[in-house]
Amino acid sequence: MLQQKLFEAAFMQSWNALVITDADLSAGCRVQFANPAFLAMTGYSLDELRGRSLRMLQGPATDQSVIAQLRACLKDGRFFEGSTTNYRKDGSDYIVRWNVSPIHDATGAVTHFVSAQEDISELARVERTNRLLARALDATSDLVMLTDARSRIIFVNKAFEDATGYPLPVIRGKTAAILKSGEHDDAFYAAMYRTLASGRDFRAKFVNRRRDGSLFHVEQTISTIFDDAGRATHHISVSKDVSQQVEREQALWRAATKDKLTGLYNRYQGEKMLRDCVVKAQAEAEPLSLIIADVDYFKRINDHFGHLAGDRVLTEIARILQGAVRSQDAVIRWGGEEFVIVLADCPIADAVELASRIRARVQAYRDGEIGSVTLSLGVAQFDPGETIEALIARADAALYDAKRAGRDRLAVAPKPGKALI
Ligand code: GH3
Ligand code: MG
Ligand code: MG
Repeated sequence: MLQQKLFEAAFMQSWNALVITDADLSAGCRVQFANPAFLAMTGYSLDELRGRSLRMLQGPATDQSVIAQLRACLKDGRFFEGSTTNYRKDGSDYIVRWNVSPIHDATGAVTHFVSAQEDISELARVERTNRLLARALDATSDLVMLTDARSRIIFVNKAFEDATGYPLPVIRGKTAAILKSGEHDDAFYAAMYRTLASGRDFRAKFVNRRRDGSLFHVEQTISTIFDDAGRATHHISVSKDVSQQVEREQALWRAATKDKLTGLYNRYQGEKMLRDCVVKAQAEAEPLSLIIADVDYFKRINDHFGHLAGDRVLTEIARILQGAVRSQDAVIRWGGEEFVIVLADCPIADAVELASRIRARVQAYRDGEIGSVTLSLGVAQFDPGETIEALIARADAALYDAKRAGRDRLAVAPKPGKALI
């Protein structure tokens, strides 16, 4: 008796819509009881429902194949679960997900059916909206990524998948760090976290890494989404692929600063770098040295073997020069077969050592057609206060000494002499 009361209370108070019908299939299973949640969902009173079949909830958009399935289950006394469109008393529709279980008596005969129903219209609407939003995001050419507060990826759009090579199922749950290229320093990420934590958007050019390891450039905006309590819950990143633009800029920069044949810095860029180095050497009182190298009897190479063979020799010598210097040294194609090497923070003794190593390497090199080629070199250390022209003139004079002394050698420029007056 007490148990029945408890069940009744649970039935009446359940948030789920519950309804009990008889098992008379030919009469369409008539309602016996319905709880308040069911009445609220359908808009009918218990009196209006009692004794009637729930067919009354069906309408034009009700999926008859689902109803046929339901009927088959009820006939066999099996459990049913499904969803379709139903109609309230006022004619408005809703999407219902419901299940039906048969109740048996002592002899095993089905006497009633119990059905739990849920209005999932809102859920279906949200799902439909989400699908629409995802479709809209897929249609944009911007790369969109949604992560949780700990940077774990929840969603990426099609443009993101195409640009990175990561399909959503592969990248979902991973952290956005998967895109890190190693091209940004800690200060860059510190500024990003600081900006995002303060609630502002972070905008920057990022270099990211694709799934295949290659790099791509984007202009990226990252925003934080906060909940009502002010806690960060998500990050949204929208970026535009600017790789092509960056490549064009790099190509322009190469064309403006590099020599096409050898890939070394050109005269224009070389002079600029030399100026910068002189300023720095003056300011920081660092030793700055310079080497000028010129190919010996290069005209003969052109005359005997042709211009193309000459070009090949120049390319090969450029490669030897570049391979001999430190990463901070600038190797410049100064003129036709003349090269300048600017050695920042390098005393003359080290410059002489490098020049003699270069001389030996070029001399040891053999071209298949031409055979051996040699260089003459002039080495000078910048004297604080002298002009760049004076420095180059001294190195040039040393080079001329080396030529005169028989070529395939180096000469060191003496310190500039004091003015005589
Ligand atoms: P030296 O030992 O006195 O330096 O004799 P040299 O023949 O090397 O000197 P010269 O300055 O008389 O000759 C330089 C030659 O370099 C003349 C020029 O035609 C050639 N040259 C300049 N630029 C290029 C180039 O880009 N390619 C080729 N193949 N030859 C070039
Ligand atoms: Mg020469
Ligand atoms: Mg020359």
